[in-house]
Amino acid sequence: MKIAVLGAGIAGLTSAHYLARHHQVVVFEARDRVGGNIWTEPLDGCRVEWGPNGFLDSEPATLELVAELGLESRLSPADHAASDRFVWREGRLRALPRKPPGFLTSDCLPLAARMRALAEPFIRSRSNNDESVFDFARRRLGRGAAEILVDGMVTGVFAGDPKRLSVASAFPRLHALEAKHGSLVRGARGRGFGPPGHLTSFDNGLQVLVETLAERVDVRLGAAIDAVSDLAADGFDHIVCALPAARAAELVPARLAEHLRRIPSAPVAVVALVFDSPAPVPRAFGFLAPHNQGLEVLGALCDSAIFPGRAPVDRHLVRVLIGGRRRPELVDSTDDQLLDIACSNLERAWGPLPSPTAHGIVRHRLGIAQYERGHAKILQDIEANCPTNLRLVGSSYRGVALNACIKDARSWSP
Ligand SMILES: Cc1cc2nc3c(=O)[nH]c(=O)nc-3n(C[C@H](O)[C@H](O)[C@H](O)COP(=O)(O)OP(=O)(O)OC[C@H]3O[C@@H](n4cnc5c(N)ncnc54)[C@H](O)[C@@H]3O)c2cc1C
Repeated sequence: MKIAVLGAGIAGLTSAHYLARHHQVVVFEARDRVGGNIWTEPLDGCRVEWGPNGFLDSEPATLELVAELGLESRLSPADHAASDRFVWREGRLRALPRKPPGFLTSDCLPLAARMRALAEPFIRSRSNNDESVFDFARRRLGRGAAEILVDGMVTGVFAGDPKRLSVASAFPRLHALEAKHGSLVRGARGRGFGPPGHLTSFDNGLQVLVETLAERVDVRLGAAIDAVSDLAADGFDHIVCALPAARAAELVPARLAEHLRRIPSAPVAVVALVFDSPAPVPRAFGFLAPHNQGLEVLGALCDSAIFPGRAPVDRHLVRVLIGGRRRPELVDSTDDQLLDIACSNLERAWGPLPSPTAHGIVRHRLGIAQYERGHAKILQDIEANCPTNLRLVGSSYRGVALNACIKDARSWSP
C-alpha cells in the first residue's frame, strides 16, 4: 500500500518507521527540519532543547524504538545529583520531598494542608462524571494540595488549567489509582503519584532520535499539505495525519474539522539563558510556579544541571517557560519583555543574578494539547466522523508525552 504521513514530529516519524516495514511510505513536513516540537540547537557553546527535555525510561515502546535504531549507547540519563525540585509558595521556593515520607516534614504546603492531604486514604472514592483535575485533587487531597502541588504538576506537564483539564483524560494514571484502589496513596504504595521511570535524553539531545528516524524513511521537507483529499487523488491509499488537531482541522472534511477544533492547546514561550559559572544557579532540577502565587512564569529548568553535557563546565544553561492556558497573552510579549519576565522571576526565586551572556527565545503557538473536560467524547466524535482512509495520531489525542506519542503512533497499521 502507498501511505502518506503528514508531519515529521515524533508521532509522524514513528508511524512512518513502523509502516515502512510493509508499505511504501512518504512523510510530508511543512518546515525545513524534522522533529516538530523536538528541536535541539546550539546557543553560546550550550545545547538548548526548545521543546521537550527528555522522556521517562519506563515505556517499552520507546525503549524498543531506541534499540531498533541502535541508539542505546547514546542514551543520556538525567543526573541524579540534580533531582531536587522546588515549588514557589507564598514568596519563596520550597523543596518538594524526594520520597513520600519526606512530605511529613516538608514545608511545600502549610501544616493544615499537609494534614488534610495525609487523610487521603480515608476519603471515600466517588465516581464523578468527567471530573476536572482541580475538583479531583481538592476532593482527595484538599484545597491546599490542589492549589499548590497539583496546580504545579499541571503547569509542569500541560501548561494547563487544572479547573478545565479532565483528570480521566489528562492524568489517567491518577484516575485509575482511585478507581482501582479507592485511594491514590494506597494505590501508589509509597512510590509517588507520577509515572515511573527516570528522565532520559541522548548525548546530543532529543534531535538524535528524530534525525535517526528521518534517515530511515522518505521525508519531504518544505512540503506543507493543504488538503488530505489531494493525497488521495495522488494515489495514496491511506493517510496518517500527525499534526496538532488545530492544524489537522485545516486539511480534513468539515464534519471532522469541527470536532478537531474542539481540542484546544496552550501556547508556551521558552526563554533559554546562559550564565557564566559563578552565577548562583542551583544544582537542581528546577522549580514550578503554581498560578496565583505571584510569579509570572510557569517554571524554570536548570538544564545544564539536569544534563551536564548541555553546557561547558564554566556555564549554566537555564530554560524558563512562560504563557500556558491561563496566560496565553504573555507568549505574544516582545522578546525584551519575555527576557525581562524570565530574568526578574529567576532573581525573585534565586536572588541576584548577573546578566545572561547569551539568550534565545522560541514561541510554540500551538504548544501543548489540552485534554479538557469532554475530551473523551470529542475523541468519540472524531472517530465517528473520520474517513476510513485517514488515521489521526500525535499529541492532540491520547497522550502528550513523547512516550505516549510513540506508543500511539506505532499501534496503528492499515
Ligand atoms: C515547550 C515544550 C516542552 C515539552 N516538554 C516535554 C517533555 O519534557 N517531555 C515530553 O514527553 N513531552 C514534552 N512536551 C510535549 C511533546 O513535545 C509533544 O507532545 C510532542 O513532541 C508532539 O509531537 P507530535 O509529533 O504529535 O507533533 P509535533 O511535534 O507538533 O509535529 C507536527 C509536525 O507537523 C508539521 N506540520 C504542521 N502542519 C503541516 C502541514 N500542513 N503539512 C505538513 N506538515 C505539517 C509541523 O511542522 C511539525 O513538524 C513538551 C512540549 C512543549 C511545547
